[in-house]
This record gives sequence, structure tokens and C-alpha cells, in this order.
Amino acid sequence: MPGPIVHLLVQQRLATALRRTERSREFVELLRDEPCSPYAGFGSMGPDFLFFSLREYGDAIGDLSNFIFEVYDTIEPIIEFVEETIEPIKTAIDDAVSAILPDELEALLADLGSTAGTLGSAMLAKLGEIVTSEVDLFYPFYPKLQQGAPEDEWYWFDFLHYRRTGRFCSTMWNMARDAGDPDLMRYCLGYASHIGTDVVGHPYVNSIVGGPYRGHWHRHKLVENWIDAWARRHYDDPPSFMGCLRIGPEDTYRANSIAGSYYSRLCEFPGRRLPDKLGELFVAAQRETYGDIPHPPDFNPGDVDAAYRLWIRWFERATSIGDALAPTPPPPPGSAATALVTGYANEISSIWSGAGAGGGGGGVSIWGIFAASADCIRRVLETIVKTIEYIIDHIADILLLPLTEALRLIRWLVYQVHLGLWQIYDEARFALVLGGYLFPDERDLAKLPWAEAFVNAGNAHMTGGPAAAFSTYPRKRQAYALLGQTEIHLVYPGTLRERPSAEPCPLPHFGVYPDVMIDAHSGDPKADAFFFCEQPYPPDPSDTSPAFTHNVERATWAGPQLGSALAFSARLIGERLDDLPNFNLDGDRGYGFLTWRLDGVGPTDPPVSPAPIESNPVNVNYGPTV
Ligand SMILES: [Zn+2]
Repeated sequence: MPGPIVHLLVQQRLATALRRTERSREFVELLRDEPCSPYAGFGSMGPDFLFFSLREYGDAIGDLSNFIFEVYDTIEPIIEFVEETIEPIKTAIDDAVSAILPDELEALLADLGSTAGTLGSAMLAKLGEIVTSEVDLFYPFYPKLQQGAPEDEWYWFDFLHYRRTGRFCSTMWNMARDAGDPDLMRYCLGYASHIGTDVVGHPYVNSIVGGPYRGHWHRHKLVENWIDAWARRHYDDPPSFMGCLRIGPEDTYRANSIAGSYYSRLCEFPGRRLPDKLGELFVAAQRETYGDIPHPPDFNPGDVDAAYRLWIRWFERATSIGDALAPTPPPPPGSAATALVTGYANEISSIWSGAGAGGGGGGVSIWGIFAASADCIRRVLETIVKTIEYIIDHIADILLLPLTEALRLIRWLVYQVHLGLWQIYDEARFALVLGGYLFPDERDLAKLPWAEAFVNAGNAHMTGGPAAAFSTYPRKRQAYALLGQTEIHLVYPGTLRERPSAEPCPLPHFGVYPDVMIDAHSGDPKADAFFFCEQPYPPDPSDTSPAFTHNVERATWAGPQLGSALAFSARLIGERLDDLPNFNLDGDRGYGFLTWRLDGVGPTDPPVSPAPIESNPVNVNYGPTV
């Protein structure tokens, strides 16, 4: 899944992209009649919301989502405090200094110190949970496909990306059209744009990741988060979009960040529950499409609704909670306060002796990063406490200064507390961004090497590992486990390449920024041969027939192939919505592969050779297109 932001950006631009053909008029009208339809918006999430399928992932998604919700619960009061509560406190302190009221001043400062301490400690505790537990909350999502499990044990999230993918959407479309329900028809248009965006977007993501989701799911999620943040900053919200976001006076809308984008409102149904008719359509199409092949245990509409509810809760938090900005420094204390400032500096300097850089100072090990951040936060907390103590201990001396000097010094010291709390927030938040738990913020896009390494394959080596090369794809899974070191998601994998070879994405999409994948290119009609391939690779290498995906790849990869996500989605909808091709939506093997099955896992398949190896249980012996 390219992340939800890219999917929504494409979906919101569909009507414009579709306008070019006469056949598309029906679809354009459907989209134009209800430009803010949550059916179309949520449709563009395709099957991705099933990542939150409680029924299937159970405790694993419960643990991950609870952790993320608790993080937001911890962050929110800090943002409110830094942005709102501290100003009245500063004014009250100013008043107390002006009136020379040492007791009142002391009480105000003590309050400030304890609030800052409580909020900072809560953030430190959240970070500490990850450091001390060493549990990788992403590990349990290890795709069953990669484990070589039978297909009736897979997750629906994976299954809907790997099996009869287009047929599932077309089945829903035909059912919705027969029912004459424009809401459900809009849902299918959104869903089809998800397919178009996945087919083009996943190969782009994979080229940065180094391999497909099934082998690198945590890194995949991280890279998608960064691409989403990059795309959010790159594309302006068109005026039509703004109306759909329903920004009110209470909202802290931000034009360039995911936090504060309120994009969840594009997908929000009344009561934040899935409409019955949509759950019923989804389940009916699952049964119709997959009833005759081994498939994961049947869903009922309640299962779909439960996944939607958890997903929208997460997306709402991720897109509504804003950001705290660093406080503006006041003028430094004047010369009459020199002795007091020197005394303060001496007390604080002992806290910081031997400190690392913080903020990614731990290199590319996530434990190093978390530990460096936690260390930094501990020192900042101590600084806050010491600063407050210092002011209280020296109130008498401060109040002996001329009034303007006393005010200037107090304001400067209170700013140190304010800044400290903001630093705690920002250190912890960014460590969680690197863990893949939170979307990056706009200002993270200026942080190197991360902001380059995760959005452009040409820079993927900047956080470690080999350089990404067009000809060395896909890299095998790196072995790791539920417990212990999990920082590998930050580094381009140095593992061996899976054979046989494949292209990561079209050459013009390799080593460039995400806008090229999103809306730069129309397609090459020759690449339509991908739709009709019968086998991934020709059994006889001298056979160059376009019946084989790899042959079509080689013949077209110098150009844009299927085009960028927006153009390809529009073309799929405009030309073949009722009979969509069954692409593997993860770009799982390489570019343009239809769904394929592993040799050796079917009920009547002979065992494959060589035997699976531990770090890459799937032996990539490609069976037929299915
Ligand atoms: Zn997807």
C-alpha cells in the first residue's frame, strides 16, 4: 500500500484525469455529483484498512494500535501546553515580578516546573516502553505468504493484494451498478484507483525499500510514511478539497503536514461506522470472487466494520493532532544579570557533560536512536527541574535587579523551561517517526539523511547498506525476530537477490522523487501487454513472446510503462472497470506481474528444490499466473 495520503491525493484528482475520454463520462458524473463522498474517499483505501483487522491479527493489531493511541494521548497535552497554556503562565509570572511578589512568583514557577516535569516524564516513559521491551510491534504482521503457509491461512489484507485483485473490484462494481446504488458505485471507483495506484506505486516504494512488502514489511511501512509526508507537502489542497475537509474554527489546519490535514474526514461515514450496505457488498463480493478457491476464513459484515472503525480512529488521530512549534527565544538577559546567568550556566553545564547529539545521534540503529533520545530527554528533564530550582533559590537576588532587567532574566529562564519541554516532545516524536509508528512532520523533511533516504531510491544508501541499483532487485528478507534488534528497517538491505531477476519499477521512476510516480507520466500502450500475460518467465529463455511478463518488462522498461498512478488509475476505470486485470498489488515480484502462485505450495505440487532457507522461507520459484 502506498500510504493513505497518496491514495487520497490520486482519488481526489481522478475526475479531472478521467475527463479526457467519452466513455468516462458516467464515472466523471458520479464523482462530480458528490465530490466529498466518503464512499469514494474510503474506496481509495482499497483493502489496506484490513491491516486493522481485529478478527485476524487479534492481539498484534490491538497492541500496535493501543501503543500508537497512547503515544497520541501523550503528545496531545504537550502540544496544548506548549502552544496554549504557557502564555497565560508567562503573563502571570511577568505580573508577579512587576509587583515584586516573591511568594506568588514561587508558586507559579513551582506549578510550571511540575507540569513540565509530568508531561516530559510521560513522553520518556512511552519511549522507554519500546527500549526496555525490545518487542517489534510490527513483527507479527509477517505475511503468511512469505512463511509459505497454505492460502486458507493467509490474512485478507494480503489475499486481496495477491489474488483475483481486479476481479474482486469488478465484481463489486457490477453488483453496485446492478443495484443502481451511486454510493456503492463511487466506492468502487475509489477502490479501482487504489488498484491503479498500488500497481504503479508499490514498485516505486519497493525500489527504495529494496524488496517487496512480504519480505520487508516494517521498512515498507516506514518508507510509505515518508512518501506520504513528502507528497502532502508537495501537492497543494485544491479549493474543492478544502470544502470536503470542513475545517472549523477549532481546527488547527496545516497545509503541508499530515498532522493537521484532517484527511480522515474524506473517509468518514456518519457515526464512524461502515454503512451496512457497504459491509454487505464487500462480503458478498468476497464470496462471489473467492468462493471456489482456497481463501482465508469468511468475513461477515461485522468484521469489515470492526476493521473500519479501528482504522478510522487511527487515521483521525494521525491527521488531526497538530504539531508544537519551537518557542521563539526572548532577548538575552542584560549586563546587570551577568553574575546570575553565569551561576545558572554552571549548574546546568554539569547535566550536559558527556551528552551525545540526540535526535538521531544513535546512527542507524533504532535502539541507539531511542537510547540517545531517552538520554537527551532525561537531561532536558533535569535541566527543567534545575532551572526552576535556580529561579526559586535566587528570587530575592533577581528582584533586587532593576525591574526591566529582572523581567528580562525571568523571561529568559522561563523560556529555557518552555524550550526544554518542546525538545522532549520533538526528540520523542521523531524517534517514533523513525520507528515507523508516526508520520513524519513537515519539518522532518529537512532532516538528513532520513528525508532523502526514504523518498528516493537514488539516496537509499544514505542510512547504510549498499546503494540501490536497478539491476539488483529484489533483495531477500533479512532474518529477524519478535524480540531483539529491529533497526534493519532503517537500512537498505544488503541481502542476496532473489532469483530470477526482475525490474523494481520503470527506469524513469527509479531514483527520482515521488511526484514522478504519482502524476508525471501517461502510459505506453505497449505495456498493456502486461494485462494478458500467461506466465511470469518463459520456460525457454530464447522465447521473447509477450505472453511472459518478464519479456514485456524488458521490452518496455526504458519508458514509463503503465504510466504514473493517476493516469493509470484513470485508464483502468475508463477502459475496463467491469473486467479489471488481476495484478499483484504489492509489485511483489517486480513490476507489472499479474498474481502468481509459488511452486510447491499447491495441494498437488511436488516439493520445490532447493529447500527453503531460514531467512527467506519462500523459495521464489514462480508458478503460473492465477
Ligand atoms: Zn493496497
